[in-house]
Amino acid sequence: MAGGKIVIFSAPSGAGKTTIVHEMLKIKEFNLAFSISATSRKPRPGEKNGVDYYFISAQEFKQKIENNEFIEWVEVYKDQFYGTLRSEVERLFAMGKNVVFDVDVVGGLNIKKAYPDRALAIFIKPPSIEELKRRLLKRGTETEESLKKRLERAKYEMSLADRFDVVIVNDNLQKAIEETRGVLAAFLLD
Ligand code: ADP
Ligand code: 5GP
Repeated sequence: MAGGKIVIFSAPSGAGKTTIVHEMLKIKEFNLAFSISATSRKPRPGEKNGVDYYFISAQEFKQKIENNEFIEWVEVYKDQFYGTLRSEVERLFAMGKNVVFDVDVVGGLNIKKAYPDRALAIFIKPPSIEELKRRLLKRGTETEESLKKRLERAKYEMSLADRFDVVIVNDNLQKAIEETRGVLAAFLLD
């Protein structure tokens, strides 16, 4: 059956992976569908429940952990959970899709471990931590506190890059998109 492959995108927050993933989803021949994660963080302006994330409370999230409903989950910051629901991945495979994940670095490595034979794990690397900070400031989604936390975590996440199958440096966005397109074509269209 067509579909059934997994492409994982991981990066420190602000590296540009959401931007790149959106571009890949537009390429029809890749037959990709986005795995919608569950999270207990609040939606940003413009984000929709059931599109960007399944937005649920921290309490509901903890209940689902107890029920073993997640393939993997993380508590990135206190009471701010993110996780991949088994039901979501099954839903997309049943539709004959290749599934694309936009998850944090540790989550990406865990998903790769869960599906070693059919997953490609891609690390999107910012040119530097200073540039990452500039992008997060420009995106305008962070408080001073959350910016500090994301940058601290980014340093650790950058150290895990070499565990991924492919590393793409997102300096020039258009170049990074083209490189990613080439990598996905080789993996999905063979
Ligand atoms: P992530 O999903 O990794 O957190 P985003 O895709 O939201 O990152 O990108 C973070 C910000 O940086 C966004 O405002 C985006 O438009 C911008 N951005 C992405 N790639 C580049 C790039 N190559 N150069 C400059 N800005 C970029
Ligand atoms: P944001 O709040 O910017 O949407 O996401 C914060 C971080 O959580 C990002 O690195 C994002 O990729 C990650 N993330 C989103 N969904 C999941 C998930 O299901 N599992 C894991 N491990 N991380 C996730």
